[in-house]
Amino acid sequence: MASFGSLKQSIFDKEARKQQYQDYVRGLNAFDRHKKFLNDYIDYYGKQKSPREALPIRTDQDTLREGYRFIRTEEDDKYPSWEQRLVKRYYDKLFKEYCIADMSQYKTGKIGLRWRTEKEVMSGKGQFECGNKHCNKRDGLSSYEVNFSYFEAGENKQALVKLVVCERCAEKLYYKKQKEKEKEESKLKETEKHRKKRDRNESDDEGDIAYSRSKDRRKGKKASISNADDKTEDDENFDECLEGMFP
Ligand SMILES: [Zn+2]
Repeated sequence: MASFGSLKQSIFDKEARKQQYQDYVRGLNAFDRHKKFLNDYIDYYGKQKSPREALPIRTDQDTLREGYRFIRTEEDDKYPSWEQRLVKRYYDKLFKEYCIADMSQYKTGKIGLRWRTEKEVMSGKGQFECGNKHCNKRDGLSSYEVNFSYFEAGENKQALVKLVVCERCAEKLYYKKQKEKEKEESKLKETEKHRKKRDRNESDDEGDIAYSRSKDRRKGKKASISNADDKTEDDENFDECLEGMFP
């Protein structure tokens, strides 16, 4: 039977390990943290086919820098540690957070959306790389909330998900709406021109009615950082560790 002393020691060790992990991940940038979480996820939970191949190659230096690996024990499997729960939470969330777009018919306003595959989740496609299927830009990315209708388990479902795209692809996303707006605006201008002409011709005492068309405003709202949707585990610093991971 475990003595009180060794029990105390084990609680202390666990806390120290958690603290060490937190300090370590907070020092990483978002992409390195992503890699770290997913590598740890695979270490803890395993995979039939290791998707690690999809990740950029780890150098010896990466391993050294990590400085610290977990030794999996039977007890860990039965009672997942804080670190295990953290990376699982991250991993699970990734699948229903971002989507991938097929923009091949963007001119007609049709944007196809689908969930990411595991390989894409692992490599960061649609999160750290443009979510347009055929674009691999990694700079100037913005996150947009899009309404995604999909079919799952015999049901039609709808969800507001994030689509991360580069500037050029963002234009494709709003291409049709933008064109329609431009058309509408030029039509209005024409009408106004005609009206003014007519007014001048007919009488002058009618006040000038100003058209207050709103200026070009992007419909797509920038997705807000949603790192606090599950309050139940807040006290365990999960959210702090995942901060900035879901822009
Ligand atoms: Zn793009």
